[in-house]
Amino acid sequence: MRKAWMTFLWLAASAFLAREIPEAQDSRPVSTTWKTAWSYEGAKGAEHWGDLDPEYAACRDGKEQSPIDIRSAEKTDLPAIRFEYKSGPLNIINNGYTAVRVDYIHSGNFMVVGEKRYELKQFHFHRPSEEYIHGKPYDMVLHLMHADSDGHVAGVAVLWKAGSANAAIQQLWRFMPKTEGKLVEIPGVEVNPADLLPRDTGYYTYQGSQTAPPCTEGVTWFVLKTPMEISTEQTTAFARLYPHDVRPVQPLNGRVVKESR
Ligand SMILES: [Zn+2]
Repeated sequence: MRKAWMTFLWLAASAFLAREIPEAQDSRPVSTTWKTAWSYEGAKGAEHWGDLDPEYAACRDGKEQSPIDIRSAEKTDLPAIRFEYKSGPLNIINNGYTAVRVDYIHSGNFMVVGEKRYELKQFHFHRPSEEYIHGKPYDMVLHLMHADSDGHVAGVAVLWKAGSANAAIQQLWRFMPKTEGKLVEIPGVEVNPADLLPRDTGYYTYQGSQTAPPCTEGVTWFVLKTPMEISTEQTTAFARLYPHDVRPVQPLNGRVVKESR
């Protein structure tokens, strides 16, 4: 009886985390779940987010906001990141802010760094990259959003530069929903997010935020130093739907970016 009760609590807590944590990421399950609409450009664009809703105040008042331009970094002995990713079902959404977001409920995909273990909740793309490195953006960026069992959020950014076509991107783009809509399950298709990672997982790390409303801080970002290659055709296919789904870079306000050796 006690065991059944504990199981129930565990399931309830898991359900809570599974529902709430993705909503706390920089994209929610569907755009209509945002209490107040926002956009990347125009009257509801990035410079106005903090004024659109009191819940978005961190977008204006936060001191540790993302993305940033990484111009200098302190080389430090940092733990290696280990990605424990595997193939799993493809649940994909065009949510009105990105053409491709892949959602997970209990993905069983983990990112381990030092003593910390984070589970993958969703990943999505921006064009061009939100992160700048030495003053310049890349062609695209992939954000893999994770949370640990206490709800701490860790974002991994993978930068993409023009080059050869990527097979994993090709697979995702095949199922890219052409219009904004609900989450779609693609039967019989599996993706392995490990196929979207560079072999060398050396990184920059800093304390930041979600890069979209409500701009919640407390996100530990890991920006992988080695970019991946994407073909111009692949970037163009995304850009036809979302030519610029990017928040401008934010002030560092004294934050120090650390870099793995
Ligand atoms: Zn993002």
